[in-house]
Amino acid sequence: MATKLTIIIVGAGLSGLSASIQCALSGHEVIVLEAAKELAEIGAGLQLTPNATRLLTSWGVYDLLPDPCEPSTCTVYDYTGRTLAHETRFGANCRRKYGAPFADVHRVDLQQALVRRAREVGVRVVLGARVVGLDLDGCVDEDDSGQGNDGKKKEKRKCAQITTLTNSTYTADLVVAADGLWSTCRSIFLGHIDPPLPTGDLAYRIVLRADQIVDEDLRDMVRTPGLRFWIGEDAHVVAYSLRGGDLLNVVLLVPDDLGEGVSKGVGDLGEMRKRFEGWDGVLTRLLHQVPTVTKWKLMHRPPLPTWLSRSSNLVLIGDACHPMLPYLAQGANSSIEDGAVLGLLLSPSSNPGFRSGDDLPDALALFERLRKERGERIARETWGQRRDFHLGDAERGERDSVFAAWLGRSEELENGGLGRGVGFPSRWTCPVAQRWLFGYDAVEEVRVAVGGGEK
Ligand SMILES: Cc1cc2nc3c(=O)[nH]c(=O)nc-3n(C[C@H](O)[C@H](O)[C@H](O)COP(=O)(O)OP(=O)(O)OC[C@H]3O[C@@H](n4cnc5c(N)ncnc54)[C@H](O)[C@@H]3O)c2cc1C
Repeated sequence: MATKLTIIIVGAGLSGLSASIQCALSGHEVIVLEAAKELAEIGAGLQLTPNATRLLTSWGVYDLLPDPCEPSTCTVYDYTGRTLAHETRFGANCRRKYGAPFADVHRVDLQQALVRRAREVGVRVVLGARVVGLDLDGCVDEDDSGQGNDGKKKEKRKCAQITTLTNSTYTADLVVAADGLWSTCRSIFLGHIDPPLPTGDLAYRIVLRADQIVDEDLRDMVRTPGLRFWIGEDAHVVAYSLRGGDLLNVVLLVPDDLGEGVSKGVGDLGEMRKRFEGWDGVLTRLLHQVPTVTKWKLMHRPPLPTWLSRSSNLVLIGDACHPMLPYLAQGANSSIEDGAVLGLLLSPSSNPGFRSGDDLPDALALFERLRKERGERIARETWGQRRDFHLGDAERGERDSVFAAWLGRSEELENGGLGRGVGFPSRWTCPVAQRWLFGYDAVEEVRVAVGGGEK
């Protein structure tokens, strides 16, 4: 079987486009099938952490982003506005520690930059192509000699056949299911409809233009990029600036009151403001500037036994296999990591064990070994952040005493002041969690895994 594979990626979201770039750079023919007729990522802001920006930089995507905002500070307030944690040189520290930026961007800007780069490296992106059928036993690879590298007879490899809603068909050596939370490929793979499950929380998502904000102090806050959290019983808020401070992204995380089966809707401004009555005046004033808001049910899924088809012609990535609460902003970042690791393992130059398509089963097995544990670990960690951010007044004493002990000592905290392996209630500045989240290097991970030496 040839080294150059035909790879079909289902979904032009952040995981699919990332995988498409790295697979094309590895020398494969790559087609992305996207259901939407035009690419206009819905949603709002996105926090990009160094584990992903190092990859976006290496692909030439980071430089295509218009005015990414690097927050200078990271602050956690309690719901009354009292400062619990504050890191003064947050953005600069991220660059220093991880060699890559922490940046807040508009999702549309990232998607446009990824698609532009994908096309430049030869990826074909087909819009209006909703995948409805997937036959993993579709055909037998004609090039297959029937002999493995060890000279023994082996099973013939199967291609996959894909059908879209408009009845176009495609044949691929490998299908990458990057079709998100509501993945059709996942249901076909499992053989039954497999909807995601509610987490019990929902997000109010808001994007405000700085020039819509009449309050001068608030406008100044938007123009000076910082990362801000307010935390209270069963709820928290995150706010950060986008596009050089022209926009403010605000997400309010509260208990889910959308009906069963309703995944999103237009939010009621009065209801939203009432939910945060009595919180910090900065926040409540901000909420009075909001003209419209949407509500999104936050969903998750239990881990799958495997992300690979038995015939090694389908692999799941991104939200299709490891969706998570957005409380550590890792859904997209870890999906970008998935795309990078997959593409690197399918290149003889980064994976000497991959010499031809016959090595696909081993390369995919290694992909799963490297990525599944990490994706699922991050998803679990988001629940820990939920617990620590959502404590009520009766339960917050211990947490707040840890915050209080380190307030004004962020440098000592960063330098391991808590002691080896001891966590901090905000993973955003926790020296333990931050290191394994932001410090992850997909290229290095692959290098070591294929026998390139110690980490
Ligand atoms: C409120 C909120 C805030 C978040 N904030 C952050 C953050 O700051 N940082 C972060 O890293 N993550 C964040 N996330 C998570 C992040 O948005 C997701 O994890 C990420 O978008 C997943 O990417 P994906 O490519 O796997 O899926 P998606 O982005 O959902 O892309 C899937 C694509 O597949 C297409 N598609 C679906 N079905 C088909 C089909 N049958 N055929 C063809 N195409 C199909 C869709 O149209 C879509 O384009 C947040 C999530 C929420 C809800």
